[in-house]
Amino acid sequence: MRLKFMGAAATVTGSNFFLSSEKTGLMVDFGMFQGKPEEVELNSVKPDMDFTKLSGVILTHAHLDHCGRLPLLARYGFKGPIFMTEATKALAELVLYDCAKIAKEAEGRSILYTDEDVEVILKQVSLVEYDKRFDIGGFTVTLVDAGHILGSASVVVEERATGKSVAFSGDLGNTPEPLLSPTHFVNKAKVAVVESTYGDEIHGPREEIEDLVKIIQKAEREKGTVLIPSFSIERAQELLYIFDQLKKDGRMAYETPVFLDSPMAIKATTIFKDFPVLYSQKLKDQVKTDDPFDFPGLMICDSMEKSKQIKNYEGTKVIVAGSGMMSGGRVVHHALNYLEDPKTQLVFVGYQAEGTLGREILDGKKRVNIWRSQVEVKAEILEIKTMSAHADQEQVLNWLKKIEGLEEVALIHGEDLARLVLSEKIHQELPDVKVILPIINQEIKIDS
Ligand SMILES: [Zn+2]
Repeated sequence: MRLKFMGAAATVTGSNFFLSSEKTGLMVDFGMFQGKPEEVELNSVKPDMDFTKLSGVILTHAHLDHCGRLPLLARYGFKGPIFMTEATKALAELVLYDCAKIAKEAEGRSILYTDEDVEVILKQVSLVEYDKRFDIGGFTVTLVDAGHILGSASVVVEERATGKSVAFSGDLGNTPEPLLSPTHFVNKAKVAVVESTYGDEIHGPREEIEDLVKIIQKAEREKGTVLIPSFSIERAQELLYIFDQLKKDGRMAYETPVFLDSPMAIKATTIFKDFPVLYSQKLKDQVKTDDPFDFPGLMICDSMEKSKQIKNYEGTKVIVAGSGMMSGGRVVHHALNYLEDPKTQLVFVGYQAEGTLGREILDGKKRVNIWRSQVEVKAEILEIKTMSAHADQEQVLNWLKKIEGLEEVALIHGEDLARLVLSEKIHQELPDVKVILPIINQEIKIDS
């Protein structure tokens, strides 16, 4: 077998891997590069691989950096099946149409694909369930619940002729997640391709609820604004779930409004409600008597008009808006309105990739460019790290330790420092396992 790393190698975004044997091959993820301009350019470059060998594609989950380039597959001549779970399909549909729409609206940028391309590719989707084996060319594949977002999976691929197997972690959850089932482990593999987003960090105990209480109570005292750039999928639902709890137990004022200002997050919440079977046990119990994503004061901003009206609202308010890294979406106009106000608390609750506005602000830049105007950052900048949907160093190590027969680990989906620190740790704790840090378009041979 040969394994080629065509994305998320020495960077976080653009996940894309090609595993091939003599006659057949499969692709895992075909995600968008986001962040640095030189990486974004790669989105329009056809991957350097043998498409004639491609028997099937597997999508681990619906985040854009994993699914974002799928609509290009048809243009590259691929007409075969694209395997994913049902929840992943529902969310990927949302993400891909949104991406096509943003491309259409962005002036002066070349359009990567259109609605029609998305439509074509969705027809190629083949739904699979967790823990059920299926075949792609000469391989047998199993998806395992990764506990990262709704429908997310790790992938185990076995070459039938040799019995050798490769496990792709996909993105691993920060288990236990309040909303989802815990991450399931992979029992056996020779090679593991594992994410390393937080390879250099330990998240520490989950204190996001206490952190949010402090932030909201401060805003309530000062009549300030809490602005939360949020990923639409998972993070937004998690926030709603927390606000629902806080309003119930009186730690957040009944009348403090929460503006959910993201069309994507609104739709994702609806999809979330369609898959209670994937919830954590606690949430399964709760939905029997209560809607955990709805509470007094929740304002759903499903139109641009409603979004614009938020700034006319004078008192304390919480705004949850996309995109999560402030690289676009409605959060950008809120940043323009509120960053210069010292009573604003800008709260990051997710990963900020290099090259994004969110990262610039998080790194402490006091003056940023938004839509060609210079904006002074006077808002208080806060970060809640424990809300990450990604496993930390300990969780990744734990995931690796469960794999029987593991000989080699490739660290992907992480910046270089995170990968180096994690690789050092693996050397210490799993001394017999070889670690590689692949760069883009590197190919490795998997011998028997
Ligand atoms: Zn993800």
